[in-house]
Amino acid sequence: MTENTQATTNWTPRPPQWIWMDGRFLDVTAAQASVLSHGLHYGTGVFEGIRAYSTPEGPRIFALDAHLDRLRRGAECLGLAVDLESLAWACQEVLTRNGLDAAYIRPLVFQGMGGLGLDLGAQRQHSVVAAMPWRSHLGGAAAARGVKATIAAVSTLRRNRAAAIPPLKLTGGYVNAVLAKRAAAAAGFEEAIFVDDEDRVCEATGENVFAVFGDHVVAVTHPDALPGITRRAVLELARGEERELSRAELLVADEVFLTGTSAEVTPVRELDGKRFPEGAVTRRLQAAYQDLVHGRAPRTAAARPGAGRAGHRMPQQPRAAAPPPSVQVTT
Ligand code: PMP
Repeated sequence: MTENTQATTNWTPRPPQWIWMDGRFLDVTAAQASVLSHGLHYGTGVFEGIRAYSTPEGPRIFALDAHLDRLRRGAECLGLAVDLESLAWACQEVLTRNGLDAAYIRPLVFQGMGGLGLDLGAQRQHSVVAAMPWRSHLGGAAAARGVKATIAAVSTLRRNRAAAIPPLKLTGGYVNAVLAKRAAAAAGFEEAIFVDDEDRVCEATGENVFAVFGDHVVAVTHPDALPGITRRAVLELARGEERELSRAELLVADEVFLTGTSAEVTPVRELDGKRFPEGAVTRRLQAAYQDLVHGRAPRTAAARPGAGRAGHRMPQQPRAAAPPPSVQVTT
């Protein structure tokens, strides 16, 4: 794989050695699926982006239950059966096997070989959990200096309508984000923000959008946006408000920032030529979020799965005996 040299940085600096696939840990070169996999042709898969943080007590996975709950909802749309206990266990075990503490964890469940018709059922299903050393997909410096974002360069593109593809982490839906990212990068921007036909702000390609007016924090709501787990946590930390926001309102905000598992809290330093000064509220929320994910602050209900299972016990290997997990789970 070649390094992406466009305005945005890409990740996967080095592949992990061990990948969990269909119940077994395999060397990355041995974890394979057919080129006739249904998911490869039609995007019939669901994934999550989860992070583990390094703490003095060892690696800590943030909001694992909430992520797996969202994955389950996506899987239901595609008739994919998911074994959440196995996935939870694999998410922590893949860190141990690869000797990682700060990592990005990528569970993926997809329809495999067994027919290329659009009807589902005959396909074999695959489940994968990979972990890679952490590196921000917006670039390591983005949190400090902010990103240069655009609405204008993607103004002819629309976010997938929820009525067409549910706003969950379905693999095929991400073609929409890739198209926007390409258009933004070609115009010299680092990130794209979608608006709808009424010029209401939706979300960025891989983050939710916030605006700050004075001390007041607004988390943008839009029916086509992914219900972000970071968004919920930050909204609670900020004691902010959720509401729709127009492009014009966004451009007159005092501060604009993006939230996501990967982006965490990333300031927007410029939006279509409008520069935002470094924002005190954004910086405060960045620090509070770091405290939260590193377990230094009281846990918020926002990091817990709203509709998910109550609480999270340490994931146990579902079948054979496993060594006790050494990874903590922040819920
Ligand atoms: N929107 C989209 C389209 C995303 O892919 C992501 C990343 N998962 C987000 C928003 C942020 O969601 P989260 O905070 O749960 O990572």
